[in-house]
Amino acid sequence: MNRLTAVHSVDDIFPVYKNTPVGSLLGYHNLAHDYGTYTQAQLLIGMCMDNRKHLHIPDNFAYIIRAGGANLRYSEFKVSYAIAVGGVKCIALIGHNECGMVNLAARKEAFIQGLIENAGWEREWAEQHFLHFAPMFEIGNEVDFVLSEAKRLRLRYPKIQVAPLLYKVEDNLLYQIRESA
Ligand SMILES: [Zn+2]
Repeated sequence: MNRLTAVHSVDDIFPVYKNTPVGSLLGYHNLAHDYGTYTQAQLLIGMCMDNRKHLHIPDNFAYIIRAGGANLRYSEFKVSYAIAVGGVKCIALIGHNECGMVNLAARKEAFIQGLIENAGWEREWAEQHFLHFAPMFEIGNEVDFVLSEAKRLRLRYPKIQVAPLLYKVEDNLLYQIRESA
């Protein structure tokens, strides 16, 4: 977790994010900067579906794709759309601690039992559903996953800036993730 750099002032923002939409995001969310006025999206944000997270950003500022673990591997057409048609030049990829997509195997029985009780599924469907999809959505470790996903997106979209960030659920702030060579 010591790969995280907090943002308590403008000076904490990594130089690579200064004067970019990622820097603006950090300013709005962490530093309560006054909202700018936007007529088109500046940024694509990929973040987890988790209910504990809410971003403080102005209207029209960003496209947001919410998917378990901030995993955009199965949202590629939407990413392409935001870049190609929406014209965004940056992606902020926001993982978070205590993510439910870490160690899914530990929640296998709760998942199956929940589908049976809450959704009315047969046990066999629920088991097959879990076994089929859990390996696709398991992220391992939040920080490592966001870093690997950032690398993947940079290879896929070489002209786009991709910023790996982490949202801490205990203080609701964004942290920059340092990438060492
Ligand atoms: Zn999550």
